[in-house]
Amino acid sequence: MTHFAYPGADYPVMAPSTLSGVFPRVLAIMVILAAAFTVPAAAQEAPSAPGLAPAIGPWIGAPRGQITDVAGNGDSLTITGVARDPDSAQAVRYDILVNGLTVASGATPRPSGFGRAAEFSEDVVVSAGKHTVCLRLTDGRFDKRTVNCRTAVTAPPVRVAQSTIDKAKGVAITRSGVVVPILGGEPGNLRVQTPCGAEATLTDATIIDRARVVIDPGHGGSESGAVGGGLQEKNVNLVVSELVVKKFEDLGISAQLTRTGDYRLPIGTRAQIATNLAPDVFLSLHHNGGAVRPSSRPGTEIFYSEARPESKRLAAILYEEMNAAAAQFSANWVSTVSEGASLRLREDGKDLYGVHRFSPELDSVITEFLYLSNSSEAQLMKRPEVIEAEAQSIVDGILRWWFTEDSGTTRGRQFTDSSSTGTGGFDNCNDPALNSGSVGLSVQREQVLAAAAGKIPAPKPARSLLPAFELGADPSVSSS
Ligand SMILES: [Zn+2]
Repeated sequence: MTHFAYPGADYPVMAPSTLSGVFPRVLAIMVILAAAFTVPAAAQEAPSAPGLAPAIGPWIGAPRGQITDVAGNGDSLTITGVARDPDSAQAVRYDILVNGLTVASGATPRPSGFGRAAEFSEDVVVSAGKHTVCLRLTDGRFDKRTVNCRTAVTAPPVRVAQSTIDKAKGVAITRSGVVVPILGGEPGNLRVQTPCGAEATLTDATIIDRARVVIDPGHGGSESGAVGGGLQEKNVNLVVSELVVKKFEDLGISAQLTRTGDYRLPIGTRAQIATNLAPDVFLSLHHNGGAVRPSSRPGTEIFYSEARPESKRLAAILYEEMNAAAAQFSANWVSTVSEGASLRLREDGKDLYGVHRFSPELDSVITEFLYLSNSSEAQLMKRPEVIEAEAQSIVDGILRWWFTEDSGTTRGRQFTDSSSTGTGGFDNCNDPALNSGSVGLSVQREQVLAAAAGKIPAPKPARSLLPAFELGADPSVSSS
């Protein structure tokens, strides 16, 4: 296909079919003849330079215009722009394309005078993530031209209280890659809480103000969690958690791990890291142990937080998504009576789990995917497609919670059971090095990665993420 370029190379090309149209102006034809050379196809969607409003068409008489703003409202984008026909007082027809598909068509209001610009606005519903939004102008003489494109990232609706966001002090990533809650101070002289609950000063650290999602890989260091089939839960939890974080980052949604390597992290510190980031979702990711009762379906367990209906709704959606993800595979499943989305309380009526009890302002959930103590399920957990399916089901569930009012399926129950493993406290806790080296990854973890046959991203012990959204800009859209 031959493309035609025009003087001022940053303008999109005209489709070949438009050459068959009648050009009423001799000058326009002369411009085209003078500039009949080929340009790369990519130039068709070249964005116009910011600040130049409106973009000038390729020839006299062509309709001109551009997108002036793209604003996100959670599950929709509001696109505003201007367009004008330089030699009439007529409305200009336009199409809005999202990711190459026409999602809206319309016409500007009649302009106030000959050749004047008129503003238009369209709301389009889109899925979460990054989108390419383009403006295409239509004119009877010149057919259709894509004149302007932008990249837009939707922001999920904020579900955490503004007062919680206002209080959040952020976290620091130390030189060795450990995540620590900020207590005070300033960059270059930060007071932080170490994993084991001591106070430390950091002179060199990456600061993260906020994350929309906090993923907490359960256990770590001397606390292995469930074991079975040659796997330790702490390592499986970290592998899946890193994949979940990466998937959110790929969507343009900020996400942060509480634990980035194989070290002890008491639950009080995990909850403090989450509270300091004021996320919409605080998800503690685990794999299960102990059940022996045979079951016809996976025994996925999700625990939600007392007195937070949105935590319960998230748990019920995650139960549906994660249980369906597991059920794609076959195993000799086991379960307990608390399969499903459940609320587990102490005798005093408070949440049993510290993840919930220590972060009362957050919608927190604990996910227990397959049973590592069941060798049939542990074998499954070594397969990369199972790791992928689990991570994707968590992302899908959280997005569904954000963008729908679905209630999900609980199947679980409310029960009182104060029994505890006795782990997760500050006793006998040894802090990892904060300012030198990098938090180590265990041999077990390497085995999990090897089993994943290179499909899981390489571990990044010194994780320093830039939040996708600055506090002040949230919630909205970043557009470029
Ligand atoms: Zn666990």
